[in-house]
Amino acid sequence: FLTGKTAIVTGSNSGIGLGVAHRLARAGADMVLNSFTDRDEDHALAEEMAREHGVTVRYIKADMSKGDECRALIEQAGTCDILINNAGIQHVAPIPEFPVEKWDAIIAINMNSSFHTTAAALPMMRKAGWGRIVNIASAHGLTASPFKSAYVAAKHGVIGLTKVTGLETARENITCNAICPGYVLTPLVEAQIPDTMKEYGMSREDVITKVMLERQPSKEFVTVEELGDTAVFLCSDAAAQITGTSISVDGGWTAL
Ligand code: NAD
Repeated sequence: FLTGKTAIVTGSNSGIGLGVAHRLARAGADMVLNSFTDRDEDHALAEEMAREHGVTVRYIKADMSKGDECRALIEQAGTCDILINNAGIQHVAPIPEFPVEKWDAIIAINMNSSFHTTAAALPMMRKAGWGRIVNIASAHGLTASPFKSAYVAAKHGVIGLTKVTGLETARENITCNAICPGYVLTPLVEAQIPDTMKEYGMSREDVITKVMLERQPSKEFVTVEELGDTAVFLCSDAAAQITGTSISVDGGWTAL
């Protein structure tokens, strides 16, 4: 049902972004994939997706830590019916030792990029008379964990931006919502296992069961396919009156 629509997913050469892009392509959308690299394998991902789903897929390099590149991504795509703000990084450290450059990078990539892409995409959506913005926030946009100051601050900020965007577009055929995933076993989560092992003095297995899935009552990781299908739902007519809010896909985490 998304045939003829163009969807841009930031940070989509891996993990959740790639999974969401696959689901949107399966629903018929032409895709723009993105990351800050420009490798053969990035373009190969686009070709593979195009072949698998029979849609047009482009890969556009843009660094989401830079406001002008965020805006250039949307301009270069030329049209944007669906915008999925997904790019994100993580760093785990206590506040006094939290590296300032990591704080700045997380705020820029995880929060500011959504402001820039949204600012560039809204005029295109208004021209088309239809639009969907889905911000991939986190359970950490609604709750907190120690040692994740920048990430939790950025994700709470994204939920605030989601509400404002929903209000500014409320009278139009445009919606903006956040998806708040619990733990998904992607490269981003893999990468924090060693630091969390150090922080808590735990084995890998204990970090997975006692720290990560400890907060997730389902005791299962969320999958990228489940998140992709949630995004597809938010793009459907059934979701036309869902705006300015967030949907938790977290195995019960935020119900605790
Ligand atoms: P990931 O590391 O697999 O993917 C992150 C993506 O962002 C990659 O494609 C990476 O290339 C891209 N990226 C990083 N820096 C970038 C930059 N400067 N410019 C452009 N792209 C950049 O991680 P993921 O787990 O798939 O995370 C995707 C999003 O989901 C993030 O916003 C993350 O905070 C959020 N999230 C993840 C989980 C989880 O458990 N994995 C839970 C909740 C929310």
